[in-house]
Amino acid sequence: MSESVDSLLTILESRRTWVALTGAGVSSASGIPTYRDHKGTWLGSQPIQHDEFISDSSKRQRYWSRSALGWPRVSAAQPNESHAALVKLEQAGILEGVITQNVDRLHQRAGSQRVIDLHGRLDRVRCLDCSYVTSRGAIQNWIKSHNALPDTSSLTLRPDGDADLPTHYVSDFRVPHCRACGGVVMPEVVFFGGTVPGPVVDECYQMIDAAEGMLVVGSSLSVYSGLRFCRYAVDQGKPLIILNQGQTRADDLCTHKFSSSPFTLMAQCADYLLFNKQEPLHG
Ligand SMILES: [Zn+2]
Repeated sequence: MSESVDSLLTILESRRTWVALTGAGVSSASGIPTYRDHKGTWLGSQPIQHDEFISDSSKRQRYWSRSALGWPRVSAAQPNESHAALVKLEQAGILEGVITQNVDRLHQRAGSQRVIDLHGRLDRVRCLDCSYVTSRGAIQNWIKSHNALPDTSSLTLRPDGDADLPTHYVSDFRVPHCRACGGVVMPEVVFFGGTVPGPVVDECYQMIDAAEGMLVVGSSLSVYSGLRFCRYAVDQGKPLIILNQGQTRADDLCTHKFSSSPFTLMAQCADYLLFNKQEPLHG
C-alpha cells in the first residue's frame, strides 16, 4: 500500500461519515472536458450567461445550435473510476452523499443513491412560461428534424454540451420551443450568472451537517456556489480534504490535499474500505 493511500485511508477512517463535493475533474475521464485548466484559466470562449439566455433570442440561438452538437457526446458519456469509487464509499457506509457541480448525471448512472445536482441537470429542459418539462433527448430529436447538423468530429466540446463552431450555422438555426405552449425553453441547469435555488442550497447544508467531514473531488472551486460549502464545513470544525490535480480556491482552508493521481488514490481507498466492510460477512 502506498504512503498516499495509507494517508488518505487513515483520514477517511478518522471520521464516521463524509460528504463529497464533486466538479468537472471527475467527469473529464468520461470525455467531458473542463471549463478551466489546472491554473484556473478559461479554456475556449466564454459561456452564455443566465440573463443573456433569458432576454436575448440570438443568444438562445447560439446556445441551442452549439448544444445540439455537444449533446450526443454528453449523453453517450459513461461513468468512470471516480464515479465508481464514490458509489463504493457510499456502499461502505462512510459517505452521506454527493453534492455535484456537474450536470451530466454520471453519479446517478454509476449508482450513487444520494446525489444533489447543485447546478441542475442537462438531460431535462423546462419551459420558462408554463414549466412544462421535456427530456433533452426529445428536444434533440426535434432539433435534428428541423436543422441540418454539421459533422462534429473536429469540434471542441465543453461541460454543458456547448461546442465551438462557425457563425453561419448558428444564424440559420431553428430553436426549440415548448411543446405545450410554444414558450421559451431552457435546460434545467444553472447558467453562469444564474442562482442555485434556495431549497437545493438548504439540502446541501443538511447533507454537510449530517457528515463529519468533507471531501472535494475534482474541482478547482472557482465558482462560489461550491466554495461556500467548504467554508461552511471548515467553520463547523470539520476536516476538509481536497482530491484535485491543480490549484483550488480552498487550498488555504483545507486540512489535507492530495494532488498526485487523486482519483486513482480515492478508488484504491474505496476498494479497501468496501472490502473491509464486507469481510466480516465471509468470516
Ligand atoms: Zn410552455
